[in-house]
Amino acid sequence: MTVFNCQEVLDRVVFYVDGEIEQAERYQVDEHLKGCKACTQEYAVETHISTMIVSSDFNPISTQELVDRALTQYREQNRGI
Ligand SMILES: [Zn+2]
Repeated sequence: MTVFNCQEVLDRVVFYVDGEIEQAERYQVDEHLKGCKACTQEYAVETHISTMIVSSDFNPISTQELVDRALTQYREQNRGI
């Protein structure tokens, strides 16, 4: 079985977050995220943005602000990493 590299994971992380990814690819992304902080961080950002967009109180703000908020929340949830 081939293993996704970072670029391949980042290409799919949006679909992964939305649940629009094949089972085999989901597994690959899962396995990669376990060992890659950079992609895990990207995944956290995408998850956060996705959550904010679907929530009713979503207000359009700058992408940078979204990323900053996501990273702050991610760090709070993952102290010690
Ligand atoms: Zn990676």
